[in-house]
Amino acid sequence: MRYFFKNAVDEGYMCEPINGCSVGCYYCNAFKGAKRRRMVKNRAEWLIPKSDNIDINIFENELNQAIKDNTVSLNFIALCGLTDPFCNCETTNIFNKCKTIIENHNYLARTLTKSKIPDNFLKHNPKLTEIGITIDGHSLYEKHLKNNNVEMLQKLKENGFYVFISFQPLNVKTPIYKLENILENFKFVDQIKFGILDKYRIETHERQFKKAYKLSDIIANFCIENKISFVNTGRTFSKINRERLIKNGITKKILF
Ligand code: SF4
Repeated sequence: MRYFFKNAVDEGYMCEPINGCSVGCYYCNAFKGAKRRRMVKNRAEWLIPKSDNIDINIFENELNQAIKDNTVSLNFIALCGLTDPFCNCETTNIFNKCKTIIENHNYLARTLTKSKIPDNFLKHNPKLTEIGITIDGHSLYEKHLKNNNVEMLQKLKENGFYVFISFQPLNVKTPIYKLENILENFKFVDQIKFGILDKYRIETHERQFKKAYKLSDIIANFCIENKISFVNTGRTFSKINRERLIKNGITKKILF
């Protein structure tokens, strides 16, 4: 079993102890990648997350190596980036185990979820933990509200954690007023990432392309006004905001 992988895009490290995700998003790139690498046969298999028992020696050796190498562009380990760490109790236990080992090595881990953030998440070391939620549209935002994730994120921020939201991917059909309403609830976050869903259709339909620009600009303007670091992972970003971004210098170039 191998736990740590170098991310070819940003040269950071990902820790992937779990294969599969029961959230089952239709746009899941992790599933497509796992299928390509023959780690899963089909979607039904993907929907049942799998993991072997963590071999502490192998895990620690790989972690030490990753920490040694991880100086180029990122200073954190992306933990469980190819699954949702909190999609069930078993994945949450594996996440906690790996997170504790990384913390014991005094290293920062970053994670992202669409599921309920566990109540005991506050027990992690705030100085070594970054946590975010993905919002791909209004219905997922409502699910986060029901799961108390917005409240939890606020509590984590008050306790010194670095918190972020990810509109990656954001459905281009999201109405503008709904996006603006969602954003109003996140003035407290440290960072917002965004990228627009369905880039091929955007590229071929001018109207969608314009809408994607508009949504991107709304997020960027909100971040600039509220002094929130932001990262646009797609090309859907207007020239004006690109210039403002350079002037303000408040972004942090990262990928998750
Ligand atoms: S939560 Fe992430 S890993 Fe899980 S199915 Fe959705 S996109 Fe894939």
